[in-house]
Amino acid sequence: GSTPTKGGPVSPSPLRIFSQAKKKMNEIFIELDAQVKESTAFLKRISQGVVPVNLETVDHVEKQYSKIKGITEMVARDHMKVVFFGRTSNGKSTVINAMLRDKILPSGIGHTTSCFIQVEGTDEPEGYAQTEGSDEKFGVSSVANLSHALNQGHLGEESLVRLHWPKNKCFLLREDVVLVDSPGIDVTPDTDIWIDKYCLDADVFVLVANSESTLMQAEKNFFHKVSTRLSKPNVFILNNRWDASANEPEFMDEVRRQHLDRNLEFLTKELGVISNQQALERVYFVSAKEVLMTAQKKQQNAIVNPGAFPDGYLMRMQDFDTFERKFQECLSKSAVRTKFEHHTQQGRKIAHEMRNLLEEVYEQSNLTRALQEEDRLRQESLFHLKTTHFESMSVDFKEKIDALSRKAGQEIIAGFKE
Ligand code: GDP
Repeated sequence: GSTPTKGGPVSPSPLRIFSQAKKKMNEIFIELDAQVKESTAFLKRISQGVVPVNLETVDHVEKQYSKIKGITEMVARDHMKVVFFGRTSNGKSTVINAMLRDKILPSGIGHTTSCFIQVEGTDEPEGYAQTEGSDEKFGVSSVANLSHALNQGHLGEESLVRLHWPKNKCFLLREDVVLVDSPGIDVTPDTDIWIDKYCLDADVFVLVANSESTLMQAEKNFFHKVSTRLSKPNVFILNNRWDASANEPEFMDEVRRQHLDRNLEFLTKELGVISNQQALERVYFVSAKEVLMTAQKKQQNAIVNPGAFPDGYLMRMQDFDTFERKFQECLSKSAVRTKFEHHTQQGRKIAHEMRNLLEEVYEQSNLTRALQEEDRLRQESLFHLKTTHFESMSVDFKEKIDALSRKAGQEIIAGFKE
């Protein structure tokens, strides 16, 4: 039995792969840290004794200590990052809100996202925003507040506002997911800066498309550019506003098939980032607006009546649910690989170096011991030599005496006889 958690899906979620790996990584580095500390103390101790330990060696080991500290701090900051792209008004902000189960980002007319907004978790009880390059915190207890903060100053489209939102309100934020909303992809011809600033460390991209129209060339071009910079980016396509299709039920299946074919073609052939089979898990038909409304109703403990929504509501909800699951799997696996592979290599290198160092010291001490032993043996054998010499001398002496006495005795007997 899993229990529902506030602000998100029931646990355990595939995102746990990341938190578990992070925990493990932390434990390994704590252990490595303890080993290095112990080794340093050991080396210092013996360097004052008989084993000649190079002071440089001790110094080197101590340096590993600060390296480990740096990596541990990085591990603590590591997160999973997802960036949302798409044309203005396709519903990027609404999708993010739906995923966070709360109306956090302003959306709709007059709230066009004109810069990048990064939503990340904070342990503080109230949310706040920060603009790029400034430590000033804007209180954003409400969406209206945030819109106000966003309109302060003249933020360029490639600038960033970081929105720190209480972790206890959202499941994804609790699990170290960072979500980035972007300005409409149709607003700028030059997305190179966007890619440099926001995409190179992204684990997953979500293209929020409008199911009422086909993918725009600008949307496609952007991902072509991304895939020249990143090898095989993970791209999901959300055909949003699918609730609108209920207005024309006679075309629904046909439209869906067309979108699906084109989306699959784009992912597998044009971008070439994924196989046909896998691509089926990357395309969804959803209504972010309905997901968000449903979540809000549930939070107010209101009854959700599927009949109150356009036809196909449950299917769209189901599709969003599947999307979230596949998205979380992909995100956590990718983040573990991209974020932790490097740390693992570094950790391994440190452990390897430590082992070599200690082995060197061990060999050195063995050598010293062998020399001492040899010395001891040499001394011992000298003594041995002396005693055996003495012994053999004394045997000789005894024999001589015996011989002498025998001779003497014989002579005496002979004397009697005479
Ligand atoms: P953005 O510019 O891509 O961030 O788009 P927004 O999230 O601001 O959405 C633009 C408008 O579309 C808003 O009025 C939303 O309420 C509406 N919208 C978003 N998602 C859906 C959806 O799934 N269905 C419908 N019918 N409207 C939506």
